[in-house]
Amino acid sequence: MRAIRFQEKRRVDVGTVDDPGLEAPTDVVVRVERAAVCGSDMHVFHGRETGIDAGCVMGHEFLGEVVDAGADVKLPIGSRVVSPFTTNCGACAACRRGLTCRCEAGALFGWVAGGVGLQGSQAELVRVPLADATLVPVPEGTPLDEALLCGDVLATGFFCAENGGVAGGARVAVVGLGPVGLCAVLGARDLGAERIFAIDDVPERLAIAASFGAETIDRSAVDPIEAVRAATDGHGVDVALEAVGHPDAARLAIDVLRAGGTLSSVGVHTSPTFPFTPVEAYDKNLTFKIGRCPARRLAEPLLSRVRDRSLDASALITHRMSLEEGARAYELFDKKEDGCIKLVLIP
Ligand code: ZN
Ligand code: ZN
Repeated sequence: MRAIRFQEKRRVDVGTVDDPGLEAPTDVVVRVERAAVCGSDMHVFHGRETGIDAGCVMGHEFLGEVVDAGADVKLPIGSRVVSPFTTNCGACAACRRGLTCRCEAGALFGWVAGGVGLQGSQAELVRVPLADATLVPVPEGTPLDEALLCGDVLATGFFCAENGGVAGGARVAVVGLGPVGLCAVLGARDLGAERIFAIDDVPERLAIAASFGAETIDRSAVDPIEAVRAATDGHGVDVALEAVGHPDAARLAIDVLRAGGTLSSVGVHTSPTFPFTPVEAYDKNLTFKIGRCPARRLAEPLLSRVRDRSLDASALITHRMSLEEGARAYELFDKKEDGCIKLVLIP
């Protein structure tokens, strides 16, 4: 089959690899109808996350059709499914607690290191272990590109707002308006935030945030800390949602928070230190929530809402490309060329 493969820092290519097959009775093989390029792929691409093998198939966001299934699998062949970016068993302590992303038996797609791990989904086919617990059937009539978003960025944005404890009447800042940040705006709105300040410097991203109901702050034009303080009687916001994974973004998020506020961080952080000191945290009575989204838990309710059109995230999808254009897709996504926000690959 054809697949996008990691080769070395800043180089992915499209090549032919062996078709995946069933390795356990709980596995399925999915024929990929949609895959997406994600900000997390850029950590691997730029070598901020290291250890992945050359030749590893990239990607962890996909939707497709079950074409082969192990003996223990209940999902029928032909089912259309969307996947969270990690597998999960549905039965361990972490899964029962709803923290499916930390399943004791789980694995991340697109991460093979030293020959061990799971191949990615930017390919024609992908093997899915623990298929019945991991995969979510896509209801008939759901728009496919948006259904794809439920497996990661929509779930992650909503999780960011949930983890930050956004409640009715809250004043919220969202720092970084990539796909996840824009979904965090939707998540905060959904939880009843009264005001949402969306901070970025890319005009088309600010425009989408405004269409999602946020008050936008262009940090290339104004000082975002002053702008937020001025809009909140000098206090700062109750909750800051950080969806970048960079220390500068987390720092800005803290600086726009009121005393006793909560920073919720879902960007993948690769820095070895905190962007604040214990003294600063103490002096602000800061609550800091961070971690990977349990996308399996959130995907199902989000899918129903995408299906009944009570949630519309279609504005995020700016580009559709073929799998063969994979290397170009990475470049376009990385450099945010041509107004690229979310890029969907169609094998
Ligand atoms: Zn992703
Ligand atoms: Zn589990």
